[in-house]
Amino acid sequence: MSPRRSARSRRAVAGSTPLIEQYREIKARHADSMLFFRVGDFYEMFFEDAEEASGLLGIALASRNNGPIEVPLAGVPAKALNEYLPRLIEAGRRVAICEQLEEVAEADGIVRRDVVEIVTPGTVVDPDQLTRGRNNFVVAVAAPARSTGAAEFGLAVADLSTGEFELRGCGDPDALRDDLSRLDPAEVLLPQRLTVPADPAETLDAAITGSQTWVTTSRPDWLFDPATGEERLQSRFGVHSAAGFGIDPRRDQPLLAAASALLAYLDEVRPGGVKHLRPPRVDRTGRVMHLDEMTRRNLELVEPLRPGEGVTLLSLLDQTKTPMGARLMRRRVLRPLLGQEEIETRLDAVADLVAQSAPRRAIREHLSRVRDLERAAAHVSGGKCEPRRLLALANSLVELPGALENASKLTASRLVDITKRLDPLDDTRSAIEEALDAGDGSGTVREGHSRELDQLRSLRDEAAGWIRDLQERERRETGIESLKVGFNKVFGYYIEVTRTRVDQVPDRFIRKQTLAGSERYFTTELKEWEEKVLAADREIEHLEAQLLRALVERLGKDIRRIQQTAAAVSELDVLAALAHVSVRNDWTRPEITLSREIQIEQGRHPVVEAALGPGEFVAGDTRLDSGTHVLLVTGPNMSGKSTVLRQVGIIALMAHTGSFVPARRARIGLCDRVFTRVGASDNLASGMSTFMVEMTETATILNSATDRSLVLLDEIGRGTSTYDGVSIACAVTERLHEVGARTLFATHYHELVGLAESLPRAAALNVAVRETEDSVIFLHRLEPGGCDRSYGVHVAKLAGLPRAVVARAAQILRALESGPWGVGGRSAMLGDFGKGQLSLFLARAEGAETAGGADHVAEPDGPLHGTGPRPEPGDPAAGDVLDQLRKAEPDRLTPLEALNLVAELKSKLSPER
Ligand code: ADP
Repeated sequence: MSPRRSARSRRAVAGSTPLIEQYREIKARHADSMLFFRVGDFYEMFFEDAEEASGLLGIALASRNNGPIEVPLAGVPAKALNEYLPRLIEAGRRVAICEQLEEVAEADGIVRRDVVEIVTPGTVVDPDQLTRGRNNFVVAVAAPARSTGAAEFGLAVADLSTGEFELRGCGDPDALRDDLSRLDPAEVLLPQRLTVPADPAETLDAAITGSQTWVTTSRPDWLFDPATGEERLQSRFGVHSAAGFGIDPRRDQPLLAAASALLAYLDEVRPGGVKHLRPPRVDRTGRVMHLDEMTRRNLELVEPLRPGEGVTLLSLLDQTKTPMGARLMRRRVLRPLLGQEEIETRLDAVADLVAQSAPRRAIREHLSRVRDLERAAAHVSGGKCEPRRLLALANSLVELPGALENASKLTASRLVDITKRLDPLDDTRSAIEEALDAGDGSGTVREGHSRELDQLRSLRDEAAGWIRDLQERERRETGIESLKVGFNKVFGYYIEVTRTRVDQVPDRFIRKQTLAGSERYFTTELKEWEEKVLAADREIEHLEAQLLRALVERLGKDIRRIQQTAAAVSELDVLAALAHVSVRNDWTRPEITLSREIQIEQGRHPVVEAALGPGEFVAGDTRLDSGTHVLLVTGPNMSGKSTVLRQVGIIALMAHTGSFVPARRARIGLCDRVFTRVGASDNLASGMSTFMVEMTETATILNSATDRSLVLLDEIGRGTSTYDGVSIACAVTERLHEVGARTLFATHYHELVGLAESLPRAAALNVAVRETEDSVIFLHRLEPGGCDRSYGVHVAKLAGLPRAVVARAAQILRALESGPWGVGGRSAMLGDFGKGQLSLFLARAEGAETAGGADHVAEPDGPLHGTGPRPEPGDPAAGDVLDQLRKAEPDRLTPLEALNLVAELKSKLSPER
């Protein structure tokens, strides 16, 4: 609604003042926002807004007289808006900024006011309120189109602080959740029917509202309309058809629906328009690898497993110099590519930069002085004209020719392409430099830019100079040594004389103000000069503002060019950073192949390596190919099993993002996905049964992995009893073997090693340890074959368990090893097990454990869960032992407690019969 109309349609509320009436009318149109209502130098909030703001901001709650009643009021100085606004936005509130649209003097009756901007968490553009290397996304999610029966969700993603705009489809709620958590949007727009669904089947709770930390904004369903979406795209970007963006209006209904809602929202929150929004980039599924949350977290790609602690792959790779480069790096780490050609193009560019160290260094040196060009473009587009930001833009542009010149020395196709897109924007820079004075960084209008301004300034300087000299002159003339000329905001310029010398004051001094120890005067001459200074100041201020506006308008024409250049610069920055990290850490270019291999020679885990001292990390080889695609990695706890797994996963992902990798040599066959599942014990449990979480995650992997996937499983089955665990781990391995997925399975169940012998395309590896007299040394070296001991007692010792306990455990262990569980017996059993005779294995194990021959111990409905002791033929103590066994909770026992329990039980039974 236009301000004019809103003013006319004002309805009188009985007893209200016109101001409050106007407030109510505007507030009615922005009921869901907190209304910052400009009154002079303040933004005022009334009614509930005042109460809420006072609580959230800790400002005083006052009241304003409104006819017969008092209205609650709170206010913040207009100048301090940037201090208060972020606190409300962080609290998830929307704030509508309502300005005075005319000068008070011009107003006919009450000043015209209207909302010029609504600030919401997803639409913040002020760089001071945003994180440097992170995007601030607002995302609209459209539900699958019912009519077409397709299950695809539509996503429209924009970052108003940078102008990025992207449309994409998401196959199912899982993919949607993963996509959203990758984007980590500041605000999500959802159709009403998804937030308050009539049909429970439509609930997106699990996908969106489940684990969300972002603000959701519910929007009317009709805004998510594909046809309107197409129209909005056409009119906003001045095209005849959305097909030009690569959109197929029939197939891409959800994308258009999301675009419609997003663009409508932007129009609403920025009535003045968002000129810098770029044409949408349509992201088809199939170009980038889907990364689920498990993998992102487990491999610590962008966030450490324990929040706030440690290095991540991103923090290692992100040696970019510019904020937009940092944002792009983050995006690339989270979106590995699927296509060989595109990966190779990136690798070519990195290789070129690695080889050419002089241009690489020079480019990085130049880029280190380039600021956030994307956000500068957004600032200009918003019509804001803070001189310091414009100057920062000019100072950044100064560096572009140098960067460009060095980039031109490189020959990789991607770099050639970047140099073509990188426009040094000389004219933009000179427009700023000609207008603004960079001298002290405050960015006032430069001398020589406007004759009129220069004249006004010299006029003011002359007048100010006359006043400055006045003190000396008057001292001489009156002979009053202590006479002072001063200025204060209320009274203006004055001549001050101490009371003791007042009798020496000449007649031409006119009294202005009396203070305790002195008198203040002015003269007609001083008054005249003062008027000249003040008038000149006013005019200067006015003219400067006008000149700045003209400058910003001029720069507004360059927004697209600035954005295009920003995109080229960010890519150059990312590639140069990758090259820099590769050189520094001695990484190599991976060979990308179409076969199903992963061959890594002397691979290292980049993050663990960075955490250790130089030379401390033990590099290792890994070979997977279609002949052997399942590796069972055994080794004691702490030997480095999960490090090996993660290392392979990270190296594969790095290769897919077009980065060099930490290895002497690496051949990576393209993967369609990387799945990870790490042990329950590593998971900081969140209330839900960790075993349940583990199985759910494993199920997802088994249901989605293909023969092109890479699957990393760390200790699955650990969250339940040993037999359950071994059985599940076995079955899962067999399945992945059948599917053909490249699989690394780390386990401390040595029982699984036998499986490697019986499955044709599986092999066992172990992480070597050296056993000394009474301790172990972890060599962190992979060797073929299984490891048949867990060294738990040794690890317990290393962990600082009391000596006596360790000694006792060792004693028990020896006893156990010489009994029916002894090493010889066990390996025989493993052989059987390896041939797949699980039942036989279980029967034997049960026989051994219960010692009295009770059958089916591991079966949930077996006698173990029955009531009352069973009479035990032969051994009077057996009932007791069984009783104790029934009460035991294997899930809760540590291995050592379990050993102690077995020893205790055994000691209760009569000696071997
Ligand atoms: P596991 O999974 O067998 O319990 P981890 O993979 O968690 O063991 O490794 C335990 C620790 O050993 C790591 O935190 C790391 O400090 C160290 N480590 C692992 N692999 C290596 C290696 N190749 N070289 C040096 N140290 C390693």
